[in-house]
Amino acid sequence: MELTDSHGRNINYLRLSVTDRCNMRCFYCMPPEGVAHKAHESILSYEELLLIAETAVELGIEKIRITGGEPLVREGIVPFLSQLSAIRGLRHLALTTNGALLEKMAADLYHAGVQRLNVSLDSLNSETFSDITRGGSLQSVLAGLDAAEKAGFPPPKINCVIMRGVNDSEILDFADRTLTHGNSIRFIEYMPAVKQDGWQRYCIPGSEILERISSRYELQPVDKGAFAGPSRDYRIPGGQGSIGIITAVSGHFCSDCNRIRVTSTGQAKGCLFSDEKTDLVPFLRPPDREKLADALRCIVSTKPERHAISEEGYAHKNFTMSQVGG
Ligand code: SAM
Ligand code: SF4
Repeated sequence: MELTDSHGRNINYLRLSVTDRCNMRCFYCMPPEGVAHKAHESILSYEELLLIAETAVELGIEKIRITGGEPLVREGIVPFLSQLSAIRGLRHLALTTNGALLEKMAADLYHAGVQRLNVSLDSLNSETFSDITRGGSLQSVLAGLDAAEKAGFPPPKINCVIMRGVNDSEILDFADRTLTHGNSIRFIEYMPAVKQDGWQRYCIPGSEILERISSRYELQPVDKGAFAGPSRDYRIPGGQGSIGIITAVSGHFCSDCNRIRVTSTGQAKGCLFSDEKTDLVPFLRPPDREKLADALRCIVSTKPERHAISEEGYAHKNFTMSQVGG
């Protein structure tokens, strides 16, 4: 079965957030004190998350990415991932993590059936990394990347939010990693999530990131796979990993969007930046598969054509990426 939205896009990808908690405090994602934790009973149980996943796959979702908050801080995540990977019809199970607990957990994640890991890493310099994450340890993330490969994973894809004056001097160092370590790198434009005055100063358009890499390397466009999302992908000749650019703010983003999102409190969203959301809890407590399926279909059919964050006068509401799942 295929899920198609009213703008002709095939929706085959669900980002499922399992927690709003995190063991880091990236300054672009949450305020220094963190976000007020949701009441325990408002967070969906693993049974409820599994029901959403199964229903979504029955409707045509083929790829699920587990995210958060930091998914690895939720107790019981490994057995839950095993249940997810056993869903018939699910072709791809991936997980996005900040990598802090990866060294300890990589082998368990691999045996649970996770197929790919994305690791968020915004600096290869310990001090800058600690500044961005407000105290995170670069060494633990690098050890996590190594452990993932030892466990059997392909080299994790690295998500890197590039911010002018913060880590943009490292663009070429990250590009080098596609040659030296085989990681694929996805450069993400900084998005206005936490309401910070003058957020535009951090933004570097994807086109500038590409220009800077092209000043040293030839970049060859790469064909995108079946689950490719809104990134444009390139490869440096001889590099095992690819270089992707996610231009969420400056454009070329929405027309290829193939995803829907569900937060850890059961709020389903068709667009990261939209204020529109559907509460799935009434269809989970008690469980009602038919109504849940109707609600998910409705999220797909009302998915907005595009977001408005790059438009002049855009007044964004404050939202924390850790609650929506990035
Ligand atoms: N904690 C996990 C991690 O950091 O990978 C998963 C959740 S995190 C919210 C998912 C992704 O959202 C990360 O790659 C992070 O860099 C990205 N993200 C968070 N805030 C962002 C922002 N303001 N602009 C761009 N990307 C952002
Ligand atoms: Fe935590 Fe990920 Fe947000 Fe950083 S980006 S604060 S690691 S949820």
